[in-house]
Amino acid sequence: MELEKPDLFSLSSDGGLLDLRGGRCGACGDLNFPFGPYGCTACGAEPDRMSEEVMPGRAQLLTFITIHQKLAPGIVPPCVVGEARLANGSIQEVMLHGAEDQYRDEMMLQAIPVETKRGEDVVIACRFAPAKEA
Ligand SMILES: [Zn+2]
Repeated sequence: MELEKPDLFSLSSDGGLLDLRGGRCGACGDLNFPFGPYGCTACGAEPDRMSEEVMPGRAQLLTFITIHQKLAPGIVPPCVVGEARLANGSIQEVMLHGAEDQYRDEMMLQAIPVETKRGEDVVIACRFAPAKEA
């Protein structure tokens, strides 16, 4: 099955979780996410200074809201959208899996693969769920 955004994430080696595709800057050492084609977002180094680095799909939830309108095709409301601090320290908007009552601010999240419809196809999307205790 295809990944919805293969440039942003990949299946972990055991297939049960998602890793995020970051980029390490050879000039300043910053770990960028996403790993974009435009060079380092921290110091402006050229794209050829960047090398891909797998980033664990763990994140800390900062805040979240439940959205009841239809946001986009394939996204069925209500859906829970959060802001989370990723493993590289950057803050990104993330889609949370399932109902909001399992979430609270500051908790740890883990990126998981969730099957979702894109047109007629089923693809694997990146969603965040409460992290299992290690
Ligand atoms: Zn840099």
